[in-house]
Amino acid sequence: MAEKSFKYIILGGGVSAGYAAKEFASQGVKPGELAVISKEAVAPYERPALSKGYLFPEGAARLPGFHCCVGSGGEKLLPESYKQKGIELILSTEIVKADLAAKSLVSAAGDVFKYETLIIATGSTVLRLTDFGVKGADSKNILYLREIDDADKVVEAIQAKKGGKAVVVGGGYIGLELSAALRINNFDVTMVFPEPWCMPRLFTADIAAFYETYYTNKGVKIIKGTVASGFTAHPNGEVNEVQLKDGRSLEADIVIVGVGAKPLTALFKGQVEEDKGGIKTDAFFKTSVPDVYAVGDVATFPLKMYGDMRRVEHVDHSRKSAEQAVKAIKAAEGGGAVEEYDYLPFFYSRSFDLSWQFYGDNVGDSVLFGDSNPSNPKPRFGAYWVQDGKVVGAFMEGGSGDENKALAKVAKARPAAESLDDLTKEVDVERHAR
Ligand code: FAD
Repeated sequence: MAEKSFKYIILGGGVSAGYAAKEFASQGVKPGELAVISKEAVAPYERPALSKGYLFPEGAARLPGFHCCVGSGGEKLLPESYKQKGIELILSTEIVKADLAAKSLVSAAGDVFKYETLIIATGSTVLRLTDFGVKGADSKNILYLREIDDADKVVEAIQAKKGGKAVVVGGGYIGLELSAALRINNFDVTMVFPEPWCMPRLFTADIAAFYETYYTNKGVKIIKGTVASGFTAHPNGEVNEVQLKDGRSLEADIVIVGVGAKPLTALFKGQVEEDKGGIKTDAFFKTSVPDVYAVGDVATFPLKMYGDMRRVEHVDHSRKSAEQAVKAIKAAEGGGAVEEYDYLPFFYSRSFDLSWQFYGDNVGDSVLFGDSNPSNPKPRFGAYWVQDGKVVGAFMEGGSGDENKALAKVAKARPAAESLDDLTKEVDVERHAR
């Protein structure tokens, strides 16, 4: 079994890993100092593409087109770019044991990797219906989406079951994006979720009503208030029916499940302090263990603006937390320091011709503005959330780059709610001025 030593190891090969590697490269690393270890077979890529462009029937996004860091307009790090920058990219390598006290990681093949500084960037894994013991949930063509291998299985199933029936289990953004992708691929699509409206962790009933009507107009059927309680399969093992808890059943050639994710922290259990389901860090993404950092989906960090600890499973944070950790590591080596992470939560999604962005916190009361008529060919509307007399969150569907920047400013500045009408007008005026 081989043993290798590095000054820095980034464990994980997803979005945070790509952005951390880019930051190391721009600050300068000597050949052989840095390794990225990933269980995936490909270099870090922009994960959000998997539920969007990757599933298009024509002109689909494919690697190397969306390797990190194109998502933020940065340099695209192709597999060979890592080598050129002196970074060792160790792919198809799952770490199965981590000993933070001994500063060593062990792979499934038994190889040992030693480090001086570790950045944990293991991200999340999907929740599976088999974990909940749902009958028949291990049938073929019941699919999930997290990594590129999963996306390839979805593409394969779309091709094998052309124009068939698809059931999407889950009403979050993954469910919404996948339903749209399947519909664009001419599937007869039904979405099933237990909540009273889609995307309930962010959308208000008003916002959700727009998306549900828009989707219905596109031919997506939506069944709310119930869950998939079992599946039956053809003799060849392929799923053919979804049973719902309310007694109904749906024919299905493909089922795609998007019911949530959990952070991959098990390797470090008992070795590092945790908080809110993630690895607890400070404002520089340093964990409770010296020389160990955690970034992206796994980190529970101080969200300075709101004075509390949060874990954020969004791509913008995964990029920025990775950059912050590397900047902090490099600054500390030079005896300096960087500013504390002062993050404005930002999240977006795209499906059909729709595109929304959200900044800030969705707490308190909300106010809708603009034209949320789903029949409008170019719908443009938004919402503000107001808490304790301040605007704390801002959402917009169909906003321009400038409008989205204005929303970010609002969510960051948290103006007094008395000026809410003015803010609404400001966005409207900007919109009409174009
Ligand atoms: P990941 O990108 O998940 O990377 C983790 C990496 O670690 C993976 O390569 C994994 O294989 C590797 N790994 C894990 N354990 C081990 C191990 N033991 N050994 C070796 N390697 C390991 N966010 C948005 O804001 N907007 C969107 O539109 C959006 N769309 C998304 C669409 C999809 C399909 C998915 C799955 C997520 C989407 N997200 C979106 C969320 C966003 O992609 C994540 O928040 C982001 O990828 C988190 O980055 P990360 O580096 O922490 O984790």
